[in-house]
Amino acid sequence: LVMARDVSERYLAAQKLEEANQELERLSFIDGLTQISNRRRFDEQLDLLWHIHNREQQPLAIMLCDIDYFKGFNDLYGHQKGDEALIGVAQAFKSVITRSSDCVARYGGEEFAFLLPNTTVQGAEVLAQRIHAEVIRMAIPHKRSEISANITVSIGVASLIPKPEHSAETLVALADNALYQAKANGRNQTSIHHTSGN
Ligand code: GH3
Ligand code: MG
Ligand code: MG
Repeated sequence: LVMARDVSERYLAAQKLEEANQELERLSFIDGLTQISNRRRFDEQLDLLWHIHNREQQPLAIMLCDIDYFKGFNDLYGHQKGDEALIGVAQAFKSVITRSSDCVARYGGEEFAFLLPNTTVQGAEVLAQRIHAEVIRMAIPHKRSEISANITVSIGVASLIPKPEHSAETLVALADNALYQAKANGRNQTSIHHTSGN
């Protein structure tokens, strides 16, 4: 009896360790502040989806969303309120996603990235408009913004059917250029990278 109990206790301990490891694995892909996917998760998904879309010659879209004048927000309202705004914006981003295959991650400080399988720039643009609308609906006051009374975001969109001369990094760079363009054009807007053939 003692031996049987010893074996089952060891079995339970091993099972608990396995569960703890799984939880650690899950946590390593989640952003601690906003509780959405982190950069690590995004990069892994991008790599995987890039290969699938290359094989199937389907368009893969990326959207980069950056909060406008967020440094000024932190300066005026404090880091704590800044953190709360990031949590709110992350939730809003999650809420606009309708396809189970789409994903959004915290890409950097106040920058978020969407990964949209089988999506052209036209499809991504529809989602981008929903994002702007949702952020405006939240109406988080931002007195240091030079373009609005509330928090706004700028979005850069790119979509590619993978070709041999491209890499996943090409797609990220195109979305990043488009985001830069949206900022330069006055912020609170979406800029789209248009490629011939897509
Ligand atoms: P732009 O409109 O050009 O994007 O201007 P910006 O001020 O948003 O951009 P900038 O890159 O100059 O500043 C980003 C700021 O975001 C810096 C920092 O104060 C804030 N930030 C980044 N990560 C965090 C975070 O985790 N928490 C808080 N509270 N603020 C953060
Ligand atoms: Mg910003
Ligand atoms: Mg930024």
